[in-house]
Amino acid sequence: MLTLISLPAFDDNYIWVWHDDGHAVAIDPGDPAPLIAWLDDRGLDLAAVLITHHHRDHTGGNLALRQRYGCAVYAPDNPRIPGVTHIVHGGDTLTLDTPPMRFDVMATPGHTLDHLSYIGHGCIFCGDTVFGCGCGKLFEGDAATMAASLDAIRSLPDATRICCAHEYTLANIEFAKTLDGGNPALIERERHDRAQRARGLPTLPSTLALEKATNPFLRFHDADMIAFASRALNRPDPAPHEVFGAIRAAKDAWDAARP
Ligand code: ZN
Ligand code: FE
Repeated sequence: MLTLISLPAFDDNYIWVWHDDGHAVAIDPGDPAPLIAWLDDRGLDLAAVLITHHHRDHTGGNLALRQRYGCAVYAPDNPRIPGVTHIVHGGDTLTLDTPPMRFDVMATPGHTLDHLSYIGHGCIFCGDTVFGCGCGKLFEGDAATMAASLDAIRSLPDATRICCAHEYTLANIEFAKTLDGGNPALIERERHDRAQRARGLPTLPSTLALEKATNPFLRFHDADMIAFASRALNRPDPAPHEVFGAIRAAKDAWDAARP
């Protein structure tokens, strides 16, 4: 049987791990230490690492894990990513024998230009593209690039579990309330996710249905968000990527104003 777990790393990263009773696959193990400790406790072998993008908090375990387990390392085509054994691209399908798994690779540029997401077994491992009630900052791509990636993710089945690389949900909900404070799904999510964190549990994975109901960055086609963007941009009829860009700019300003 295949089981999915998340391991906390650094301040707020998650390393997602799929495993059966012999082998494991880890997504974005930026810090090898918590993963090695967890695998050794259970006598599991690491068969593969999947990397979403080149940032160090996602790739920092590659060399140590490859050396220790001889695992495959799947990653986007970027020389800044160490220890890669298999370069993958959007549109590829990745098949593993142990554990028996299959992932569709989706290009999701925006946070970085090399960013990939891995889709399979009812989940998307979306790295720093979608967060709980939020999305990644635009370090390399522009608003149109990220909006297209988010639209591609929105087209997945509603039940898809959203496996993000960071625990940012509560802060993102605070921001979402500034745009959307009357949204009953958002109010219920805040209650639920605060209780999770108070018990030391992750708010993730969420589902695409929940993100579509509560995450402003997946709602840039909605009338309320279009109205917000027209006020922010001071003109009518903004294009969808301009609505997304206005929400992203508002979040960046809100982040900058916080202590
Ligand atoms: Zn990143
Ligand atoms: Fe990150």
